[in-house]
Amino acid sequence: MLDTWSTITHPKDTHHIPDHDLIDHQPDEHCICGPTHRSDVSSGVLRWNVWHHSLDGREDDE
Ligand SMILES: [Zn+2]
Repeated sequence: MLDTWSTITHPKDTHHIPDHDLIDHQPDEHCICGPTHRSDVSSGVLRWNVWHHSLDGREDDE
C-alpha cells in the first residue's frame, strides 16, 4: 500500500489528500469522501486542516 499524502494549501485551509486513492478527491469541502475539518489556531489566526478520508483507511495509522 502506498502511504503518502498530498497537501494542498489554500489561503484559509489546508487539505490533506491521500495519494493513489480509489476515488478522486476534490480539494474542497464538498469532496465525496466527507472530509473532516479540524480547526488550527496555532499560528494566531484560524485555519482549517481538512483531512480527506482514504478508502483504504490509512489515516488510522496517524
Ligand atoms: Zn476527499
